Parts: sequence; structure tokens; C-alpha cells
Amino acid sequence: MKVFISADIEGVNNILTWDETELKSSEYSYFRKQMTDEVTKACEGAKAAGATEILIKDAHDSARNLILKDLPEYVKLHRGWQGNPCSMMAGLDETYDAVIFIGYHSPANSDGNPLSHTMNLGNVHVKINGILTSEFYINALYASYLGVPVAFLSGDEKLTEIVKTANPNIETVATKEGVHGAIISKHPNITNNLIKEGVEKALNSNLKEKLVPLPEHFEVEIKYKKFNDAYKASFYPGCKLVGTDTVTFSTDDYFEVVRAFKFIL
Ligand SMILES: [Zn+2]
Repeated sequence: MKVFISADIEGVNNILTWDETELKSSEYSYFRKQMTDEVTKACEGAKAAGATEILIKDAHDSARNLILKDLPEYVKLHRGWQGNPCSMMAGLDETYDAVIFIGYHSPANSDGNPLSHTMNLGNVHVKINGILTSEFYINALYASYLGVPVAFLSGDEKLTEIVKTANPNIETVATKEGVHGAIISKHPNITNNLIKEGVEKALNSNLKEKLVPLPEHFEVEIKYKKFNDAYKASFYPGCKLVGTDTVTFSTDDYFEVVRAFKFIL
């Protein structure tokens, strides 16, 4: 069984502020270790369920967060950005049996996490077919495009509720609860162990039921914080400027959605 893990940091246990996510900040080392610990527990759960290959995509900001020597010896780590539209899913292909998301967070325009955003801080919201779109949804649809199910996600509590609306069969663990500008977290040992148990359970169940449905048509809408960003994006082939700060794009091919995101999001 081949397992692909995409790991972010804004949804790990107890993380609250932007400086805690930033490579050069003094607050960062604790949360880089927590991200590494959560990924490690996911790997242990996957191994216990029979995973023979595990590729981990470091998918936050610089993509230089995970501490390889603290991860299990049986994994491989994808570090840095290739520059292709696969972005946080680079390295995934059709040969994988399951995708796991660790440290994921609520989307832009959601109160689920003080660090809520979608891909960057330049947009008010991203929508696909009217659905407020998280990085989970963007990346889960990319997995579906390749025919790979999403077995498990850990992240803030509101995101775990959003995941269930995409597919109730996906196993989830909430790492913290967002309460407006604050968060409530359990001890990291508790969430870490729940992640191990959750991943093992997910990979031992029927994976075919865990595919996120891939729509046949995509109506994409991005509302930008700066009207000039919308104007610039409107020149991407197929994009239309709506009002002063919003761009829309439609296609039947999901790869065209992620290709557009590479240039306009
Ligand atoms: Zn991130």
C-alpha cells in the first residue's frame, strides 16, 4: 500500500499566530516539532495498517518545515516547491492508494481558525461551484482527479466538519478548536495518539468509499483583497473580471483549475 501525506502547519495542535508558523521566528521551533510529531504519528498509523511506501510532501510556506531525522526511517520526504500546479500535492500520482492531510486549516472567510486562509492571504475567498473552498478541497479534488481517495485529515475542528460535507467516510481528528481570535487545544500527546489511531483505522477500512466526488464542471470564483490583483488575474485565459475585485473562471477539466490557481491565486 502506497500512502501520500501532505502536511501543513496552521492546523497543528495549539498553533495560534502567524509568527508561530514562520521559519525565522523564535516561536517557530516548537510548532515545527509539533508538525513533525503529528506527521510521525500518521506514518506510524499507516505502517501499522500495512503501508509499504510513504511519501510526505512538506506543504507549508517554504516547504522546509519537517525535521527529517525525527521522522521514521521508512518514509521519503518531498521538500521545497517543484513549481508545477500540483503545489501541495507534488509527488502524488495514480499509483498511490490513499492521501492523508496533516495540519490542515479552515478556508479564507471562515472563523474556524485564527489562521484561516486559502493558499495565501491575498484573497477574501475562493469558491468552486459556490462552495467556500479550503486547501483541503482543492487538494482532495486533485487526488480525485488522479483517482486516489482521501483516507484521513487532521486540522482545526471546523475544517473537520467541512471535510465530512465533502465525504462523510473520511476519518478526521480535530487538533484544536478555533474560538474567534483564540483557540482551545488538548495536550499534544492526546491529539498525536488520536492521529495514529485514526490513520490506522482509516487505512484498514474501505478506501473506495473515501474518494471525494469530482464535479463534471467547475465554476471558480476568487474575490481578492486588492482590486488590482483581480484586474491582473482577469488577463489569464478564460478569466472574467466581475465588479472590481472578483474574477471567475469555468472549465470541465480540473487540471485547468489547478493550472489557473498557479497563476491567479
Ligand atoms: Zn501553511
